[in-house]
Amino acid sequence: MAASAGPEIERLIALLSKLPGLGPRSGRRAALALLKKRDTLLAPLTAAMVEAQAKVRTCSVCGSLDTSDPCAICSDATRDNRLLCVVEEVGSVWAMERGGSFKGRYHVLGGLLSALDGIGPEALRVGELLGRANASEIAEVILALPATVDGQTTAHYLADRLAPTGVSVTMLARGVPVGGDLDWLDDGTIAQALRARRPA
Ligand SMILES: [Zn+2]
Repeated sequence: MAASAGPEIERLIALLSKLPGLGPRSGRRAALALLKKRDTLLAPLTAAMVEAQAKVRTCSVCGSLDTSDPCAICSDATRDNRLLCVVEEVGSVWAMERGGSFKGRYHVLGGLLSALDGIGPEALRVGELLGRANASEIAEVILALPATVDGQTTAHYLADRLAPTGVSVTMLARGVPVGGDLDWLDDGTIAQALRARRPA
């Protein structure tokens, strides 16, 4: 397709189109919004991106992102060292923290095992996880991985690898969401909720 907006603008569109959830069409809309609001949107966004590029780093303990290493969560002395929550990506740490009910530590795997995509344990932070489970005062590892085939394959693999460390390994319950109506749930969720039932 021939460039129609000049190479600088086309480059901006091409880069924006690579963002998750955006394609060429949304990238074009985003570029136009930025270029129309150069002072109020483009300039502060550019400054924020430059700052993020300069300051954000990967935490060498948990694999999350922060401006300090170790990150704020790993450095927080008030959190429970005995609980370690394993998640797929940094976004899951943010989601758990939004919930506000987990006060332990995290371990970001950086992906999931996938036979289809050729992702093996060596591509994930599995060795670091085993090291933490062996070396520290961790009593329980909570596998908070997606309820997908790859998520469950990864959870079972990790449970096997963690077994010799003697730590207790648990998984998040699956079931009826808070405020959820049974009529709207898929059969798999209802079956899981039924299996995970508990005394009332
Ligand atoms: Zn950390």
